[in-house]
Amino acid sequence: MRALFCVVALFLMQATAFADTPIRLVIHGGAGTIDRSKITPELEQQYNAALAQALRAGHAVLLRGGPPVDAVVAAITVMEDSPLFNAGKGAVFTHEGRNELDSSIMDGSNRAAGAVAAVTTIRNPILAARAVMQRSPHVMLMGAGAEAFAKEAGLELVDPSYFRTEMRWKQLQNAIKEQKILLDHDGPAQPKDEKRGTVGAVALDAKGNLAAGTSTGGMTNKRWGRVGDSPIIGAGTWADNRSVAVSATGTGEMFIRSAAAHQVAARVMYAGETPAAAATHTLEEIAAIAGDGGMIVMDAKGNYAMKFNTEGMYRGTIGADGKPWVGIYGEPEKPVP
Ligand code: ASP
Repeated sequence: MRALFCVVALFLMQATAFADTPIRLVIHGGAGTIDRSKITPELEQQYNAALAQALRAGHAVLLRGGPPVDAVVAAITVMEDSPLFNAGKGAVFTHEGRNELDSSIMDGSNRAAGAVAAVTTIRNPILAARAVMQRSPHVMLMGAGAEAFAKEAGLELVDPSYFRTEMRWKQLQNAIKEQKILLDHDGPAQPKDEKRGTVGAVALDAKGNLAAGTSTGGMTNKRWGRVGDSPIIGAGTWADNRSVAVSATGTGEMFIRSAAAHQVAARVMYAGETPAAAATHTLEEIAAIAGDGGMIVMDAKGNYAMKFNTEGMYRGTIGADGKPWVGIYGEPEKPVP
């Protein structure tokens, strides 16, 4: 009898633990025309390793009961520090040869949000976005003011040359030489070999709280202080426990014009769509105005989707078991050993 009681108690405890532990992190490292012929097995392995490292960093925060906002920051910081992605080190160049970075974050438990735009000396823009959210009365700071705020907040500032990589510099020279207009509002003007590489994360803790964050260098050859969707709450990033957390990547102008991240949340909240259907339908709306890209979406029960209408999207997910799964092209994600 006692043994039976113990077995039942153990089962109930496990069932409860399982029900209370839907922790999950989903990340992306940008969507775009990812040319398979240019991605060697070694490079693919590097991307997979970087994605797995970001997933493990965020997972560690969730596992010790940390807030999803911090899990998002942990994952994004890894990708900002990696030269492989168009965020932080390795960001794309503006027409004038600068790296201007944008980032945002949102807490789904209270819809607090923070963002920075066009910053050039903050090593990890996602840390600045979180500081704006938690330590200022504002939602978005830009340029020199955002940098002064980051300095006061004690964040690490770097010389702008820190962000430079030869690969991105060459990309800019090619774009200038070929007079590629990367920001044509009227049509898809992306060069075929462009790898976008914006990064983002959505996280869910054991209490059902969601968070989302996004960080980017924007688009190669951008001019005139152009800012895309990534730092705009409701366009590139959204989180609300009542619906979903979203981080987007793609042709920023069309994502702004579609209120993309909020549109996904609205479809879930008001129209009862699943996260996957809401992402697909929103990407269709974006395609209808000649935009493309992808997004990661997750609801408070841990239902998630990684959708894109481009050739590929660097992406991955990790759940309670701590095993990272990653993917680049259209094939299903694979476990990382
Ligand atoms: N959405 C970003 C922007 O428009 C770029 C990207 O995701 O690749 O700045």
